[in-house]
Amino acid sequence: MVRPDLKARLRATDRLDMNTITSPLPFEQSPTALAGPERDVLLKDPGFGRYLTDHMVTIRYSKGAGWHDGKVVARAPLTLDPATMSLHYGQEIFEGLKAYRMPDGGAALFRPDANAARFYKSAERLAMAPLPEALFLESVRALVKADRDWIPEGEGAAMYLRPFMIATEVGFVTKPAAEYLYCVLASPVGSYFSGGPKAVKLWVSETYTRAAPGGTGAAKCAGNYAASYAAQAEGSANGCDQVVFLDAVERRWVEELGGMNVFFVFDDGTLQTPPLSGTILPGVTRDSLITLARGMGLTVREEPYAMDQWQADAKSGRLREAFACGTAAVVTPIGTVTGKQHDFAIGTGAPGELTLRLKGMLTDIQFGRAPDPYGWMDRLF
Ligand SMILES: *Cc1c(COP(=O)(O)O)cnc(C)c1O
Repeated sequence: MVRPDLKARLRATDRLDMNTITSPLPFEQSPTALAGPERDVLLKDPGFGRYLTDHMVTIRYSKGAGWHDGKVVARAPLTLDPATMSLHYGQEIFEGLKAYRMPDGGAALFRPDANAARFYKSAERLAMAPLPEALFLESVRALVKADRDWIPEGEGAAMYLRPFMIATEVGFVTKPAAEYLYCVLASPVGSYFSGGPKAVKLWVSETYTRAAPGGTGAAKCAGNYAASYAAQAEGSANGCDQVVFLDAVERRWVEELGGMNVFFVFDDGTLQTPPLSGTILPGVTRDSLITLARGMGLTVREEPYAMDQWQADAKSGRLREAFACGTAAVVTPIGTVTGKQHDFAIGTGAPGELTLRLKGMLTDIQFGRAPDPYGWMDRLF
């Protein structure tokens, strides 16, 4: 919980800040920008997060000056004092969203306002200066426009945007920093899983948990990922692709994967997903799929689901499908689930029918192939 007085202070500075940023953000052409033909070769098979575009956005914050010096510049290494606070105490938050190539050659972002709002909340939880949502939106739009030729074409391909913020004050004092750097990077990405959606094998972590009540589970902060890697290594050692975490109190309820939310599909056509209890990251993909499924007339319950129940339902056939979702991989079918006390397959182990249907509906909107009834697409050009 952010203390109310801290919250009031952050909001007050946040109002003052917008005045010191010029709009549109000043743009500096990158002197090392890749020539068209070289770039186009990389775009044919971009992989995931392998290449970065020519530019980046940087905006600085300091107590007193507020948010200032916002610009689009050539992407270049950062110079940081080794005593920079984020390197020691972990004040770092990030976001992930995509810009899609439209059928007419234009481009659009998917629900960037949702990412802006979540970034604000993550900052509050980590006691960092929250970036005004309007600045977040302007920064991602400016970078996509600057590097518009980097948006790949083709099935499942997009430009992945990575806004992030670090504490840049220097010193060993343990306190919220008074200076921050906000930065946005962009990377052309192909389909997360080349060769179509493959059902993943999950490892049930009993040794580790991801988030505890009152902790940072609902914030998109670097520390959550660092804390999940030991569990991920245990999963890999047991032949699994991803880890599914249980709640930290009872070790009984299914929460989410290290970077994706989970859904269950039952034989009566209903869906269920764990509720946003404060220990789960509120995924934009999760929210969008709930909206799409309800729009189809399906029942979606946001209710806890016990790990033992999942196994019993999978074995009895009451549970038909299960999938994970997030911006990077969109919708990923879950094939098998293994742990010290669990071992079962979902359906036939192949991607489920409703799973693929929901994925198709979502990606049709994102790629501009279907109407956008919820006003999710932010058309840039
Ligand atoms: C980012 C993230 C998700 C997915 O969120 P989206 O907004 O759908 O990309 C789910 N869980 C965790 C832990 C995450 O960090």
